[in-house]
Amino acid sequence: MKTTTRVCVIGGGVVGVSVLYHLTRLGWSDVMLVERSELTSGSTWHAAGGFHTLNGDTNMAALQGYTIRLYKELEEITGLSCGLHHVGGLTLADNRDRFDMLLAERAKHRYMGLDTHIVGPEEIAQIMPITNTDGLLGALYDPLDGHLDPSGTTHAYAKAAKIGGATVETHVMVKETTQRPDGTWNIVTNKGTVHAEHVVNAAGLWAREVAAMAGLYLPLHPMEHQYIVTDEMPEISERETEHPHVMDPAGESYLRQEGRGLCIGFYEQPCRPWAVDGTPWDFGHELLPDDFDKIEESIEFAYKRFPVLERAGVKSVIHGPFTFAPDGNPLVGPVPGLRNYWSACGVMAGFSQGGGVGLMLAQWMTRGECERDVSAMDVARFGDWISPGYTLPKVIENYQKRFSVSYPNEELPAARPNRTTPMYDIFDGMGAVWGAQYGLEVVNYFAQQDEPRHETPSFRRSNAWNSTAREVKAVRQAVGINEIQNFGKYEVTGPNARDWLDRIMAGRVPKPGRVSLSPMLSHQGRLIGDFTISCLSDSHFQLTASYGAQAYHMRWFEQYGQDGVTVRNVSDQLTGFQIAGPNARRVLDAVTRDATDLKFMDVRPMTLGMTPCLVQRVSFTGGLGYEITCEPVAQRQLWHTLWEAGQAHGLRPFGMRAMMSLRLDKFFGAWLSEFSPDYTPAETGMDRFIAWSKNADFIGRAAAEADRAAPPERRLCAFEVVTHDADVHGYEPIWIDGAVRGFCTSGGYSHHAGKSIALGLIPRATARDGMPAQIEILGEMCDARLITTPLYDADAALMRG
Ligand SMILES: Cc1cc2nc3c(=O)[nH]c(=O)nc-3n(C[C@H](O)[C@H](O)[C@H](O)COP(=O)(O)OP(=O)(O)OC[C@H]3O[C@@H](n4cnc5c(N)ncnc54)[C@H](O)[C@@H]3O)c2cc1C
Repeated sequence: MKTTTRVCVIGGGVVGVSVLYHLTRLGWSDVMLVERSELTSGSTWHAAGGFHTLNGDTNMAALQGYTIRLYKELEEITGLSCGLHHVGGLTLADNRDRFDMLLAERAKHRYMGLDTHIVGPEEIAQIMPITNTDGLLGALYDPLDGHLDPSGTTHAYAKAAKIGGATVETHVMVKETTQRPDGTWNIVTNKGTVHAEHVVNAAGLWAREVAAMAGLYLPLHPMEHQYIVTDEMPEISERETEHPHVMDPAGESYLRQEGRGLCIGFYEQPCRPWAVDGTPWDFGHELLPDDFDKIEESIEFAYKRFPVLERAGVKSVIHGPFTFAPDGNPLVGPVPGLRNYWSACGVMAGFSQGGGVGLMLAQWMTRGECERDVSAMDVARFGDWISPGYTLPKVIENYQKRFSVSYPNEELPAARPNRTTPMYDIFDGMGAVWGAQYGLEVVNYFAQQDEPRHETPSFRRSNAWNSTAREVKAVRQAVGINEIQNFGKYEVTGPNARDWLDRIMAGRVPKPGRVSLSPMLSHQGRLIGDFTISCLSDSHFQLTASYGAQAYHMRWFEQYGQDGVTVRNVSDQLTGFQIAGPNARRVLDAVTRDATDLKFMDVRPMTLGMTPCLVQRVSFTGGLGYEITCEPVAQRQLWHTLWEAGQAHGLRPFGMRAMMSLRLDKFFGAWLSEFSPDYTPAETGMDRFIAWSKNADFIGRAAAEADRAAPPERRLCAFEVVTHDADVHGYEPIWIDGAVRGFCTSGGYSHHAGKSIALGLIPRATARDGMPAQIEILGEMCDARLITTPLYDADAALMRG
C-alpha cells in the first residue's frame, strides 16, 4: 500500500468512489481511497438504486441531473455496466398543495433544461394502469427518473478513478487521523500509516466515528429504512415496457419494477433512528430484522393506491440504515476550522446525488471553489452551535417529511426553540410568530390577539398577510422596530486591519466614523458575501452580513488570514434593534442627545438611555433607518428605553415578513436570492459598490474587471406582476416574446405599493423600462412589466436626508 498521497478518501461507498473519480477527472491522480472492507460495505450495497432529479433546492436538482447523466459516461469509460433502467417516473399529487408544488417544480425545470411535464389522471392511468387514480389531481413526469445497480455503479466509479491514476485499497481500516503541524494528515490504518496532504471523510454510516478521530462533530444521524420486493406479478410481467417509477407523497412511498415484480419503499411516520450511540464497527453486510409493524399504515395506503399489491407475495424485505443531516441535504466541503479536512457525508440519496457531490468537492479541492452555489449542501451551513441533541430530532423530522410538500414559508417545529435572545419572552408576549434561522429564533410577524399564532404553510399568500400589511404601514407611515440579532457580525482589529479588508473586500473601506457597502468576491469573481463595513478606527472595524453565512464567512476569513489582523465572529455577542421609518430620528432624539447630526452612512458609539450602543445610519427597509447594536445583557433595557420613547411617535414592532416586503420597494437584493456564488457583481448591480480606483489587488479583481470590460449577458431587473393570490418566491421562469429567457431570484408582495414584485435575471440586451414579460407562477402565466423606479423614496431623499 502506498504511504504518501495527495488525497486520502476514507470510505468506499458510492460517495467516496465518486469523489475519487472526480479528483482524477480534474487532474489530481496522486489520490487513494481506503475501505475497511469491500467496496459498498456501508449503506450502498442495500440501496434500492432509484434516482431522480426532483429536489426543492434548484442547485441540488441540477446536480442530481448531472449525476444521472454521468452514468452512461462511466459505462463508456470503464466498459462496466451500471445496470441502468431509464424508465421515467411520476410524482403523484392528490391535493391542491401537492399539485402546486409540482407546478412550481415544472416551471423551474423549464429554464434548467429538464424535460418534465405535468400529466392528468387519465394519462397516469395509461402510463401505469395498476394505479387507482381516485382523488389524484395529476402528476409530474420526469423521463430521467430510473434505477440502477448500486454495486455495479460503485465499481464503475472505482474503475474509472483507477484509469485516472487513483489507488483503491480495500480491507484497510482507518483507526486514527492526526494532523501534523504543517496541516497535512497522518491516517493510521490497520495496514500502516498514510501521510496525506488532504483527507476526505466519506465514511457514510461511520462518518460520525471517523469525524470524531479528528475531534470533530458532524451533524448527521442514521435512520432505519425498509423496502419490500414482491414476487412476480402478471400485471408487471405481461407489460411490454418496464414499469415507471412512482413517488406517491400521500402514501410516503416510492415504487418501481424489480425483476417481474415490484419494489416499494416507505418513509413512514413511526420511523426509527439507528445506532444512536454510534455505529458499531462490526456492522457491514447484514440487514436489520424485518419490521412490518412500523410500515403497517403505509402498506394499507399502498394497497389502496396500487390494489395489485394486496395480492402479491413478498419475495424479500430489505431493511437497512443510512444517514441524514438535519435538513436532509449532504454535508460537503472544507470543514471550518480544520485545515485540509473535507467532508463528503450525510448523502441520503447517493445514486441521485453522489455524482454531483463528487464533482463539487473535487472542484473545491482542485480549484479552490465550485462552479455553482453549493450553500444547500455546504458543511458550513451549520455553525458550532450544532449538537447531537439538535441533530437527532431534526433528522427524524426530515425523514418523516421526506415526501411532504415543502412550502416556501414553512417553519419546521422540531428542536425549537433552540437559541433565543433576551427578547424572546417579550416578543412572545406581544404575539410573535416565530421562524428559525441558523438555529436562532426570529420573529416572522406579530399576530393580533384574535389571530392564530401559526402561519399556514402555503405556496400562495398566507394568513400572515394582514399582520405583514399592518407592520409595513407602521414602518412607512411612522416608525417600526425589529431585532437585528440575526445579522452576522464580525470584529476586525489590529494594525493591518485596513490593508486586510482592502484585499478581502472588493468595495471601499470607509474612513473612521463611516460605513460602506461592499461585495466580497471569490477568485472567479463570484459573490460570496454582501457586507456592511463600519469603521470605528483605522485598526477597528465591524462587519455585518448574513447570519446564516457565519461559518462560511469565517472559513474564508481564516483561509486568508494575515499577521496583524484578528477577526472575531461576534454575531451572538452583539445584538440590538433597527428602527426605521419617517419618525425614526424622533425616537432616537428622545433617548440620546448624541444623534442629531448623524448622517446617512455614519457610525458612532452612543449611549441610548443608560445603554452603551453602536449606532449606524443605514436601512435595509429603505427610507430613514438606524441599526443599533449592544451587548445581549443590555438588550432588554435598551428595548424598554426605545419602546417607551417610541410610543409618542407611533413605534410598532415588525418581523422578517414585513422586512422582506419593505426591501422589495427599493429592489434591494437578499443573500442567497439575488446575491450568491451563482452570480457576479456585474450581473446583479453589485458592481456599483466595487472600488475600482482603490490601490489594492482585492480577491476577484481580475475576474470583476473582465466582467466590466465585457458585461455579462444577463442582468438583474425588477418586475411588477399581475397576480391574484400567489407571488414569486424564486426560480419561476420569465417569458419574454413567448420564450423562457430568464428566471426570478426572489419576489413577494409590496404592501406599501400594493403590487406583486419579482426580481430576476434576464438577457441584458432585452432589458428596458416598461418591457412586457410573463412570469409563470404555479402554472399560471402572469403578465409582468419591467420597472426601474423604486416604489418608495425613489430619489433616496428620505434615506439620505
Ligand atoms: C434500504 C435503503 C434503500 C435505499 N435506496 C436508495 C435509492 O433508491 N436511491 C438512492 O439514491 N439512495 C438510496 N439509499 C441511500 C444510499 O444507500 C446512500 O445514500 C448511499 O449508500 C450513501 O453512500 P456513502 O458512500 O455515503 O456511505 P456508505 O455506503 O455507508 O459507505 C461508507 C463506506 O465507508 C467505509 N468506512 C467507514 N469507516 C471506515 C474506516 N474507518 N476505514 C475505512 N473505511 C471505512 C465503510 O465500510 C463503507 O463502505 C437507500 C438506503 C437504504 C438503507
